[in-house]
Amino acid sequence: MPEQKITAEYIWIDGKKPTAKLRSKTKVVEGPITKLDDIPKWSFDGSSTDQAEGNFSDCLLKPVYYITDSINKKPNILVMCEVLNPDGIPHESNTRTVLRKVFEEHRAQEPIFGYEQEYTLYRKDWPLGWPRNGFPHPQGRYYCGVGYDEVYGRPIVEEHLKACLEAGLSISGVNAEVMPAQWEFQVGPLSPLEASDQMWLARWILYRLGEEHEVYAKLDPKPMPGDWNGAGCHTNFSTKAMREEGGIKIIEQACERLGQYHKQHIKIYGADNDKRLTGKHETCSINEYRWGVADRGASVRVPVSAKNAGRGYLEDRRPAANLDPYQVCTALIETICGQGFDPDKYGWGNLKQ
Ligand code: ADP
Ligand code: MN
Ligand code: MN
Ligand code: MN
Repeated sequence: MPEQKITAEYIWIDGKKPTAKLRSKTKVVEGPITKLDDIPKWSFDGSSTDQAEGNFSDCLLKPVYYITDSINKKPNILVMCEVLNPDGIPHESNTRTVLRKVFEEHRAQEPIFGYEQEYTLYRKDWPLGWPRNGFPHPQGRYYCGVGYDEVYGRPIVEEHLKACLEAGLSISGVNAEVMPAQWEFQVGPLSPLEASDQMWLARWILYRLGEEHEVYAKLDPKPMPGDWNGAGCHTNFSTKAMREEGGIKIIEQACERLGQYHKQHIKIYGADNDKRLTGKHETCSINEYRWGVADRGASVRVPVSAKNAGRGYLEDRRPAANLDPYQVCTALIETICGQGFDPDKYGWGNLKQ
């Protein structure tokens, strides 16, 4: 094939605390790109992303996953990157590298994940479609609603879904949520690295399309105080044994085990999650752990379909919308497939709840 200049959007996760954000910049490279190895390493100024000091500021970008850039169209690409120090050692903000090793250790159990990413659309610091000097009707009519008076922002939601599908992401659905201007997309089920890489890329596409629509998606777990639902990211999980006949027993054991590590999990389930996990609005209190079949007020829910089929998956309802999927996958795999999870082992224990 003749050589051709294409754009590669290098996407990485910065060092902001307590919640890391996405960054990206464009490199013009020789195309077409047919495999990961074709994409060169790159670097950026880590002093501008809370990842380095100004006097020694270069960080490296190591491409780890790429997809079609469905906004700028084929053959252009979006490239998910890990951040490395100048010496090639993974940067401390690089949570993906931890998951990579943990997954490698427990790969034989075939853990898979599906996320339900909730988010709230904003324009000029106010939820999209909300009256400027007041509030919309109370909740109750918006969830999965249809009509100009019921849901706000469907054009971007649909554009996002199409862009994700065209890019090859495994989005399994979208829906309007309980709070007006709040929406959800679902990723998976996929293996841990794929599910998590795709989550970050789907978020990037959402932010990028928001620029065209002059709206932005917030992942704040409790964007509006008061009688409005928060935003979570339910994390659905199963191992091979859970998906096989008789798996319900394994699912129930996993639900029990998750309870023993509740405090450790909450430390990495997203900043400000205490404002969301109040025991109201379809959540269980952050100070409690409960699991149940079909119970949307529990910390962990076993879907009724799993109970009936005698196999399937569990849904961890605790993670906040601003979770880092690499961290949450690590926690669930180590808790359920391994010896248990300790966030301090990775320097992850200091998140402001
Ligand atoms: P609900 O809103 O009822 O909680 P959704 O339909 O929004 O459920 O999301 C269900 C999620 O479960 C999807 O993200 C899907 O990928 C995931 N999922 C389905 N089967 C499995 C499985 N065997 N293991 C892990 N996740 C799964
Ligand atoms: Mn859902
Ligand atoms: Mn939801
Ligand atoms: Mn759910």
